[in-house]
Amino acid sequence: MSRRISERRPTLSPLNRRQFLSGAAAVVGAAGIRYPIWALPGPSSAGNLLLGVDYYPDQTPESLWDEDSRMMAEFGFTNVRIAEFAWGLMEPAEGKFDFAWLHRAVETLHKYNISIILGTPSAAPPPWLMVKYPDVVEVNEKGEPLHPGGRRFTCPTNQVYRRLSLIIASAMAREFAETPGVIGWQIDNELTLGSSPRCYCNFCQAGFQTWLRSRYGSLDNLNKSWGTVFWSQTYTDFSQIPVPLPSGGDPNPGLALDYDRYQSYANVSFQDEQLVMLRKTCPRHFVTTNNVGLPLDTIDLRSLYEKLDFVAFDNYPGFFEMLLHQESNSPISPDTIPANIALGHDFARSLKGGKPFMIMEEQSGKAGQRSFSPQPEKGQVRLWTHQAVAHGAMGVNYFRWDTATFGAEEYWHGILNHDRSRSPGYNEIKQAVKELKGLGPEVLNSSYAADAALVFDYDCSWAVKIQPGNFALSYMAQVTSWYGAMSASHTGIDVITPGADLAAYKIVFAPVVYVLSEAQAARIRSFVQGGGMFVTNFRLGVKTETSQMVRTPLPGLLRDVMGVTVADYVPIYSAKQGVKFSSTVAGADGQCGLWADILQPSGAEVLGSYTNGEHAGEAAVTMNSFGKGKAIYIGGDLDAASLSRVLRAFAASAGVKRPFDVPAGVELTVRKSGDKQWIFLLNHTSVAQTVGLPTAFTDLLTKEAQSGTIELSGYGVKVLQASV
Ligand SMILES: [Zn+2]
Repeated sequence: MSRRISERRPTLSPLNRRQFLSGAAAVVGAAGIRYPIWALPGPSSAGNLLLGVDYYPDQTPESLWDEDSRMMAEFGFTNVRIAEFAWGLMEPAEGKFDFAWLHRAVETLHKYNISIILGTPSAAPPPWLMVKYPDVVEVNEKGEPLHPGGRRFTCPTNQVYRRLSLIIASAMAREFAETPGVIGWQIDNELTLGSSPRCYCNFCQAGFQTWLRSRYGSLDNLNKSWGTVFWSQTYTDFSQIPVPLPSGGDPNPGLALDYDRYQSYANVSFQDEQLVMLRKTCPRHFVTTNNVGLPLDTIDLRSLYEKLDFVAFDNYPGFFEMLLHQESNSPISPDTIPANIALGHDFARSLKGGKPFMIMEEQSGKAGQRSFSPQPEKGQVRLWTHQAVAHGAMGVNYFRWDTATFGAEEYWHGILNHDRSRSPGYNEIKQAVKELKGLGPEVLNSSYAADAALVFDYDCSWAVKIQPGNFALSYMAQVTSWYGAMSASHTGIDVITPGADLAAYKIVFAPVVYVLSEAQAARIRSFVQGGGMFVTNFRLGVKTETSQMVRTPLPGLLRDVMGVTVADYVPIYSAKQGVKFSSTVAGADGQCGLWADILQPSGAEVLGSYTNGEHAGEAAVTMNSFGKGKAIYIGGDLDAASLSRVLRAFAASAGVKRPFDVPAGVELTVRKSGDKQWIFLLNHTSVAQTVGLPTAFTDLLTKEAQSGTIELSGYGVKVLQASV
């Protein structure tokens, strides 16, 4: 879990933001994955659900395995994930394998009808490997090699490391392909999550050069695409191309952006080598990997999950909150964490076009290493579980069963304490598991309905990091603020990547579209032309895909669609800039935080003007009619309240509706199937909240009738279905 998430703005916006059935067939149907990936259904009435726990038989005395397995079964768990860091035990010396212990662990678990997801161990190479092959270490952004002793200290490109990783994974796969109880695989663990998310070693440099040869075809094309004539960087051989290590001046922006793309590619291809082998060796098993999702942006997750059966990721709301405290000097709004977590869920669901996803690690107690977050308050873990399901999760594994008494993760608390007593969350998690099993297959088979989409573009995230313009400007913070503004209005929202089909949405939000490809511009143009509403903000269309500046007035490829020209762009440091709104989006004057694009309308209606300094009176927010749709440009980095108000106004005018109002701090999320819908009410506050219901419902968790004004207890959850 060692994690360091650096992409955060000092003040995140103060905005909001499985059932599991009794059989495997519905899971297969819901996930849209090929049968029989949930292999070997157990004789238990629960079948193979994915309501489980992460378990470490490698770290637990064998004398306790039977007791643990029995307790897990009594708890209601259906599966475990095991062995993802146990390389040293499985291959104690090169080419010498010992799977006897793992077979005994699997047999013990299976005896109690617990299914097993096996993790391939490439995130934690054993000491013998590091002594024999020291060149496999990663080199960080300062050019310093990492050292063994932690984890995730190896290079994703290194052919020796790839071969050794594939050898141990292949040996595991051959060993367990037909073993009763084993149902699937997790490849590696949290790729890139460590002290250095990028590798800059000589192998990566050579890999980068090969990748560039394939991408650009010729040196001439590469030189032109990057503009290498600048600072005498014209390459006459691919072998001359460096990686962006410290070099006395900033790297070429095109090279730097391509290096982020290459490193993402290298990690995906590292994973895909194991995937190809697993598909061949274990055709009856599912394959996925776990990742932490947003806000980490180091791998293009759409590529990572493209060939996998479903998305799985790890969810640690309390730990995440602690990180925010650590990295921010400002207080964290109570809405920030629920919104950030929901953003992760919506991204996970959208990565495979709405297919249900799995939480491979869900926080169950105190979480962290040197510093750790407190025990979640009573009700929170259950709330987080239902929140994940509300957003489309089909399975939840809690991290972890028993708490390690040794090693770097002694303070990542599990369901059992160090002394094996029950953790404070024990009964609550047991309740959540029982509730999910009781909900019935329909909920799991339902879909999450969204009329709105928010675009997340890795190119933009990477390019803004390379040249933020204002040092404090962060693409991730912008995306998070926009998501928070919309999730606070309780409208369904998908978090899509640029290649997604926009036609399904009434409104598309796309903040800081700094890099804009012709294909993406064409999709946006056609979406607006056809009647959609496109809402964007400053820094639109500034860069080509090779990170050159466009040679046309901004916003470049979308100037006609937006109906404006950017007359000037202004990073804001000390001088304040305000915005006065027109009657169309009437409200209190706004403040711009980090940036102002000064807009010159050429057909667009002005919805807001700057109030200060030399740009006072000039257009700050505009709306253009284009074809049958509308294109809105928000030139200034609006304060959270103003941003929330205007985005919600635009969504309402686009016809996006919420089922009914709920108080601040309560999340309302809807899943639908045909004319049926399930409304999840999630109280993210510690105090009781009242909600007025427009019609009569049944709470599927208690089977109680609900109508009029109802009370939702602190961290309470209701799953409502309209009474017939
Ligand atoms: Zn490397």
